[in-house]
Amino acid sequence: MKILAIESSCDETAAAVVQDGTQILSNVIYTQIALHQQYGGVVPEIASRKHIENISAVIDRAVSESKTTLADMDAIAVTYGPGLVGALLVGVSTAKALAFALEKPLVPVHHIKGHICANYLENPDFKPPFLCLVASGGHSHIVLVKDYTDYQVLARTRDDAAGEAFDKVSRVLGLGYPGGPAIQKKAKEGNPNAIHFPRVNMGEHGFDFSFSGVKTAVINYLHNAEQKNLAINPADVAASFQEAVVDVLSEHLLCCAKEQGVSRIALAGGVAANQALRERISEKARANHMKFQYPRPELCTDNAAMIGCAAYFEYQNGVRADMSLNAVASVSLI
Ligand code: ATP
Ligand code: MG
Ligand code: FE
Repeated sequence: MKILAIESSCDETAAAVVQDGTQILSNVIYTQIALHQQYGGVVPEIASRKHIENISAVIDRAVSESKTTLADMDAIAVTYGPGLVGALLVGVSTAKALAFALEKPLVPVHHIKGHICANYLENPDFKPPFLCLVASGGHSHIVLVKDYTDYQVLARTRDDAAGEAFDKVSRVLGLGYPGGPAIQKKAKEGNPNAIHFPRVNMGEHGFDFSFSGVKTAVINYLHNAEQKNLAINPADVAASFQEAVVDVLSEHLLCCAKEQGVSRIALAGGVAANQALRERISEKARANHMKFQYPRPELCTDNAAMIGCAAYFEYQNGVRADMSLNAVASVSLI
């Protein structure tokens, strides 16, 4: 079964052709990062306009690189939410038009389910059930993946997402957008134990996250140094911030897995590309005899192949949309 998948929830215009759920025939990503960099973050209106300009060419390329034709598709899949509503609308409208004109079924996909399904693209032998840490630009969830289409959110962030904290700290350090890769690079030159930034533990309130405190602590540290005319070492700040975030993400995931009696864990979302996070969880998983899976970096950040993979399982489960499908800015996983 071949699915043409479209993703436009944020600042990546993406299309992919995925066969039988896990075989990537093509995966085209047009990233708008360079465009938004000058503003220090994504400008929603600009993102929507760029999606409109590029989506047809991105789809054409995905189809031609897959060595198939539009007529070969068995379904059209699209991210309908969550995300920037204007950006999502471009993908949703395009997918509806294609499904209508080609008389193919239309499959709506939840963006976060797509991120989780990237693990099956990486390793088709990795199957549910497992516990997945989803850490991205807008989410920090611990999700129990009971089956390919059955999810339960066990923990979430009370304020900022992990990726959001990376992006904001990068901005105050003058390292640019997107923050994750910039902080990761800078952190390599620094000492992760140079500065102690707070780690929020919810104690008996479970495994929820809170990243606004660590973000504010970094901002206060920099303001304080500036007021007192003290020199700072940006590499030490980046490394110490990353260490604090990695500590909390890895600790919560492992403790939650133990509590649930789960021995298979995975990562998803843009922050899952972080090398320090991957290494830390690998060590902990090994020590606890757990199987640990994560997607390669280009499948962690936004792409359409992950949407095609999620769509395959949703389709098998009977999920279809009609021409009334709309973009939804905020929609929960279940
Ligand atoms: P969401 O998926 O929650 O809707 P999004 O789609 O904007 O949000 P993603 O594309 O999944 O987010 O991930 C982007 C985020 O991942 C950004 O915040 C970025 O800084 C972060 N990120 C990317 N690479 C890394 C890395 N190597 N280390 C840490 N963070 C990273
Ligand atoms: Mg992005
Ligand atoms: Fe995303």
